[in-house]
Parts: sequence; structure tokens; C-alpha cells
Amino acid sequence: MSDPRIPLPSAATLPSALARLQRLVELESPSGDERRVLALAATIAQELRALAVEVTERRAPGWGVHLEGRLPGAEPQQSPLLLLGHMDTVFPAETLAARPFRVEQDRALGPGVFDMKAGIAVLLEVLAQLRATGAQPRRPLRILLTCDEEVGSGSSRALIEELAGGARAVLVLEPSLPGGAAKTARKGVGDYRLLATGRAAHAGVEPEKGISAITELAHQVLAVQALAAPALGTTVTVGMIGGGSAPNVVPAAAWAEVDVRFSTAAEAARLDSAIRSLAPAVAGATLEVTGGVNRPPMERTAATAALYQSAREAAASLGFELGEGSTGGGSDGNFTAALGVPTLDGLGPDGGGAHALHEHVLLADLPRRVALLRALLLAL
Ligand SMILES: [Zn+2]
Repeated sequence: MSDPRIPLPSAATLPSALARLQRLVELESPSGDERRVLALAATIAQELRALAVEVTERRAPGWGVHLEGRLPGAEPQQSPLLLLGHMDTVFPAETLAARPFRVEQDRALGPGVFDMKAGIAVLLEVLAQLRATGAQPRRPLRILLTCDEEVGSGSSRALIEELAGGARAVLVLEPSLPGGAAKTARKGVGDYRLLATGRAAHAGVEPEKGISAITELAHQVLAVQALAAPALGTTVTVGMIGGGSAPNVVPAAAWAEVDVRFSTAAEAARLDSAIRSLAPAVAGATLEVTGGVNRPPMERTAATAALYQSAREAAASLGFELGEGSTGGGSDGNFTAALGVPTLDGLGPDGGGAHALHEHVLLADLPRRVALLRALLLAL
């Protein structure tokens, strides 16, 4: 039965959420552009404070600032809900000049609109509606908006894990899957660098005195790719290689960058151990392996499935079907799920083109997402 405190999506929600979204998109925030990220964060912090959220600014030198927010619940002794998102985008500064925020037909476009400024706009709109109607979630709310998710969350990971610890659930406002489904599983991610070292020699005069680092690396590229197990969801991609100093020199050094993805912690351990154990194939060559697992997999646990079920029921009470799926891309939800905290990801609006020039959100989904998140906060 639907909760009488939860109104159906109202006609006023779209223009309000859209205006918030425009403000966020028009403050560009490429990862590592400290000045721009700080300007966006200051605007968001101001909006949060105006909505009675207690905001703590966690400076992250070189990246900007992570915003931590707290809002009391009606029952302060309850374990809190963590609302998680990021402010940074993959789009370089000045993208906006060529591709400004705009509404075309059924969608809004602009750099970072989908991943994930629309998620932040939804969050702000929900908090504003709760305040306007005097509705208070039972559980205290923690909010964390980071500034380095797109570059691996190096400066925010400890804070993410700290705030997720003891939480009843983590709700991640990253984009939904195509069609609007939530994400209950994400692959984990590892990054490795292979460095092969040989010995340089003149390619014409005395090539026999050289040891080709490129030949060594060629063996390793095939060896590392052979570790993939697609049926288990494990993929290995050698995405970049380089090496050598000139066409007429036996190459003394060569390198490769490897991206690995896995669906389970067991596969992560198997891959990590196998990659670290790679041995040189060419006599006299050496091989150095650096890197490791960057994000653990977000596995679909029973608790995550139950959390999804709550969201599905909330959506049904609002008159729409919330689907469920998984993705090969990682998010900060991977860290919280790996702690064993039920994590539901992809609660941001439907759209497409993440990280691409046609990135967009579907206008019709904005009010629905606002209603869904609001209902979920009141239901949990
Ligand atoms: Zn994102």
C-alpha cells in the first residue's frame, strides 16, 4: 500500500530539479581542477546548508574538497543511511563553451549532466521537498559528495569507508542503467603496469648483443590476456603499450598498462596473484609488475537484494517498475559493498552517453527519481 506521506511526482518537481541541474552543470568540475571543483563544491555546500544540512568540508589537496553532510533523523539512535555521489567529471575545462547546458526535446545535455550532476540535483531536490513538507526520515542521513571518483578515489576512499561503516544502507546516486534499472552488482577493477627491461644494441652492427624488451613484453601481453575468464566475468585488457628508443636500436625498455575486471573477490585474488607471478620469457630480460586491485567487486549479496526489493516496492507505490542489473564499471559503491554494507547503486536519473559528448539525462525520469529517493528515505 502506498504511504500517504509520499506524494506522486508533482508537476513542480521538473522545473525545480532542472534549474538545480543547470546550476551544477554550468560550474565545470574536471577531476584535479582544484579551482573549478572548489567553486562547484562551495555552491553545493551553500545549498545543503540552506536545507539545514550540517556540512563539513574535507579538503583534498590537489583535487579540491569532499563534502560531508549530516541531517538528523526522527529516531537518532537508528543506524544512518549514507547518500553517496561525486562532484568531479571527466570533461576538460571549457567543454561547456562548445557544449553548453541545454534542453533538446526529451533530454537535457551538457558535460557531466548524466555522470553524475543529475544525481546531485535529485538529492538536493529531495532534501528541499522533505524540508518544505516537514517530512523527516526515521534514520539520520549522512551525505558524501567526493571530488576524485573519476580518477580512482585515492583521496576519498578512507572517508567513504569511514562514513559507510555502521550505516544501514548506502544509496549511490550514480546514473542508472539504460532504461532506468538500479545496479546491484558492479565489477571490481585492477590496474597494472608491466615494465620489461632488456639491453640496447645496434640493430645492424651487433644485434646479437641486445636483449629485446619489446619481445619480452610481447610474450607478457599474451600471457596476461590468457588470464581472462569471460564466463566468470573476468576480463583483461592491455590498453596501452610503449617501448624502444629508435627503429635501429634493439629496445632496452618496453611497458604495458593493463586493465582487469572481475565479478568476485576470488577472481580478484586469482588474477592478482597470477599477474604478480609473471616471469620473464626471454633469456636475460627482466620484468617488473606494479599496480594492483583498485576497486573490489560489488557483489550482489542477500542484503543488497533486500535493499533493492525495498526500492522496487517504493517505485511500485509511485506507479513505475524499477529494474535491476549489473555493470562492468566501478564506482565508490564498490568500496562500501566490500565492507558488507548493503549498497544500492544507479539511483540517479536515466539517460545515456556517460563520458561521451552526447551525455544526456531524460527529463521525464527526473521527477520520478526525486519521488523514488524521497520515498526510499522515508521507507527505510
Ligand atoms: Zn560517476
